[in-house]
Amino acid sequence: MLKEQLMQVEENIREACKRSGRKREDVTLIAVSKTKPVEMLQEAYAAGVRDFGENKAQELCEKYGQLPKDIRWHMIGHLQRNKVKQVIDSACLIHSVDSYRLAEEINIQAKKRSRVMPVLLEVNIAGEQTKFGVSKEDAMLLAEEISKLDNIRIKGLMAVAPFTEDPEDNRQYFREIRQLSVDIKNKTIDNVSMDILSMGMTGDYMVAVEEGATMVRVGTGIFGARDYGRMQ
Ligand SMILES: *Cc1c(COP(=O)(O)O)cnc(C)c1O
Repeated sequence: MLKEQLMQVEENIREACKRSGRKREDVTLIAVSKTKPVEMLQEAYAAGVRDFGENKAQELCEKYGQLPKDIRWHMIGHLQRNKVKQVIDSACLIHSVDSYRLAEEINIQAKKRSRVMPVLLEVNIAGEQTKFGVSKEDAMLLAEEISKLDNIRIKGLMAVAPFTEDPEDNRQYFREIRQLSVDIKNKTIDNVSMDILSMGMTGDYMVAVEEGATMVRVGTGIFGARDYGRMQ
């Protein structure tokens, strides 16, 4: 069943690419496996998935230890500074940088390991109170500040669009994120690139691809609904 759902998502991405004149290989599908047991991740792995997304540092670390080493782990959830140590060795990309203080801690931990950590800036595109992320207005300034740190590199933007029944409602937000990334790119800040746009989830990833997403984060559409009860 997981395999069929995965194939359906793949098909939808291919179609969205075709509609918008994009290449399928320019979009990375991240399978968001939070709350799901390792066996389901193994099933997805067997079906060819190599990019997994988790939103909790500890869960990411535990799964990292139990699954093949060629998996790319994406930290997509809010990250507290005291959890940076946990994910810095296992995550390939931190999608959720939204403050200078967090960036500073990532920089410190990366420096200790003599590496440079790639990250995305999380933008709260609709200004929702309940969501993390910097405002569109503050994103440029934050990018400039973080660019001065030696062991962290901004590679693009990440956004969580509002929950909606109609994915078309979010098209405008995806356009705004894309435009913001173009504006930041045009500023040509040292050490800042805008090659990655991480946007689109189960409800709206096709629209996100049409609007330029290079990474989509799909959980429910691949693994089925999450049961938070079993985590307690
Ligand atoms: C859970 C989560 C997703 C996936 O959500 P679905 O609606 O299940 O596809 C994507 N991005 C983030 C940041 C998440 O926390």
